[in-house]
Parts: sequence; structure tokens; C-alpha cells
Amino acid sequence: MQENLPKMPPQAKCTRCRARASVSLPSHNSRFCTACFLHFFRTAVTRGIKKAGPEKETPLMVAVSGGKDSLTAWAVLDDLGFETRGLHLNLGVEGYADASRQAVAGFAASRGLPWSEYSLKQEFGFSLPEIYDILHYKICAVCGKLKRHFLNRLTAREGYPCLATGHNLDDEASRLLGNLVGDRQEFVKRQYPFLPSPHPAIPARFKPLYRLEIKEIREYCRMQDIHPVQGSCPYATGATSHYFREALEYLEEKMPGTKRGLLFNYLRKPKELGFSGGFTPCRICGEPSLPETCPVCGLKKRVQDMEAKRNAQNRNLKKSDSKHTN
Ligand code: AMP
Ligand code: ZN
Repeated sequence: MQENLPKMPPQAKCTRCRARASVSLPSHNSRFCTACFLHFFRTAVTRGIKKAGPEKETPLMVAVSGGKDSLTAWAVLDDLGFETRGLHLNLGVEGYADASRQAVAGFAASRGLPWSEYSLKQEFGFSLPEIYDILHYKICAVCGKLKRHFLNRLTAREGYPCLATGHNLDDEASRLLGNLVGDRQEFVKRQYPFLPSPHPAIPARFKPLYRLEIKEIREYCRMQDIHPVQGSCPYATGATSHYFREALEYLEEKMPGTKRGLLFNYLRKPKELGFSGGFTPCRICGEPSLPETCPVCGLKKRVQDMEAKRNAQNRNLKKSDSKHTN
């Protein structure tokens, strides 16, 4: 699979200004020099904002994992003149969490931007490795759910009305494909690049990079000297979303523009957006929730129950061991 943009013949010219091109974008049938590529990139973000996005005066909380997508989202929003603050959730994964944190800290320092850090262990009671150790299954889905809820809650707690994330065109197209194949209409409705706030304690959500491909984001990082965390989360294996991503990548190689076509054709259709049903306070934590107990409290209860069961089993094992040795 092609990881980077295709190499350029030395005589290739920029589609926009006719200078020497340095980047080729087959899905746009274009080649750009560095300056025109940066222009193309920022225009893709402003075009998305014009279609549906926050007002220019809206202060934005930007969820930054330390990866290339979220750091790029933060960089572009800053370049476009938005007031921004970074929000990093430390998941407690040994080695990877420190490296991610450092990438966020380094980027924020290079631009003099403010950011806040929270830890999953402190907010939820368990770090990601601890959850994995107890539950053992579907850790990516669990992690995604926890991140979604805590990033929302922390944004509201810090008084920001809108949360921006680094989701890109590849993320959105593959997720759409997965949701359509599984006919998960509830999720499809919440997949739009801008979702207005559905409740005073839940921020609006915004995906500034939804029109940009991974390869384009990687190129932007290189040109702008952004240094994201290297490698990927060691727990990110076996998620079914990878298969949809690979399938789309295959189609894209054969037919450039397929990913874009799938996502944008879908977004063009008028839809009823957001959440159906009303929010009530979770009976345990009081956060706005669709079910009586919010998904975070439901998950916490499950992890605590399984931990208690495991501890009881360990105690019994120890008891029978000491009986045998006595
Ligand atoms: P992922 O769920 O890893 O595909 O990430 C999607 C988006 O969620 C990223 O682009 C970030 O904006 C945000 N995000 C993921 N992990 C974190 C984290 N640990 N802290 C803050 N934001 C995150
Ligand atoms: Zn709750």
C-alpha cells in the first residue's frame, strides 16, 4: 500500500502557478509546489468550515493525541486565526503515553499555545492497560468510547463551546463504509464534520481535516516541521475499522478519488443530524446521558465487577494453594 504521495518527475510543473512541482495529488489530478500545496491544504479546511463549521469567534478546544492528524488540525486552526487550546488525555500506556505527551508539549511550545492535560486513570479510575488487563476484549472500541465521552466532558468543564478533533478523510470514509455495511444509522447521523451542541453540557464537535487525506496530512507535517509521535498505540490491533480502511485504499489505488466520492456524495444528501431522544442526567454521575446510566458509568461498573471477580478468584486460588502446602 502506498504510504506517501507519489514521486515527482523533475520537470513537473505546479498546476496552480507553473513553478516546479514538489507534490503530486492523483485524487485531485493536480501537482503543486510547496507554497501552492499549503494554500490548497488551508483552502480545504476553510471550504469545510464554510459548508458547516464554527464561527470565526468561537474559541476551540482541540483534542490532541500527539499524532500527525491532531497536531496538524491544531496548526491549521491556529494559522487560520482561531483562538485555540489543546486538550490531551493521557491514557497511561507505558512508553507511548510519554512520547505522545512530549509531542504535544513540543508542538505547543513551538507556537506558544496553551494546553491542558488530564489522565484517564484520574478521570475514570483505570488506565487503558488496566482496563485491558481486566476486560481483555474490544479494547479499541472501549478506548474510543471513553475518549469521546471524556474529551466532551473536559471541554465543557473548561468552558469551551466546541471541540475540534483530527479525524481525516480516510478515517471518515472508512468509518462511513463500516457504518453503512452494518446499517448503523444512529452512528451515521453523528458522523458529520460539524455537529452543533445537542445539550448545554456537551460541546459542538468539529473535524477540520475531514476533506484531507492521510498522505496530504503527512506532507503538511513535513513541510511545516511538525513532529508527531512515532509509531502507533500498542493496543491498536485487530479493530475491524482497519479492514474497511484497507479495502478503500485498494479501491483508491485502482480508481483515485473513490474515498472522496464515497464521503462527499454521502454528506451532500440532506439528513436529519445528531441525536434522537432527549438527554437526562446519568443516575450515577449526573452527566447528560441518553440511557438512564451513561456509557462511562456502565463501563466502569463492568470493569469494577470483573476486577472484583478476578480478585475473589485469586484469593480462592491462594487459599487452596496454602491448604495443599500445609
Ligand atoms: P483516534 O480515535 O485515535 O482515531 O483519534 C481521533 C481523534 O481523537 C484524534 O485526531 C484526536 O483529535 C482525538 N484524540 C485521540 N486520542 C486522544 C488523546 N489521547 N487525547 C486527546 N485527543 C485525542
Ligand atoms: Zn454516568
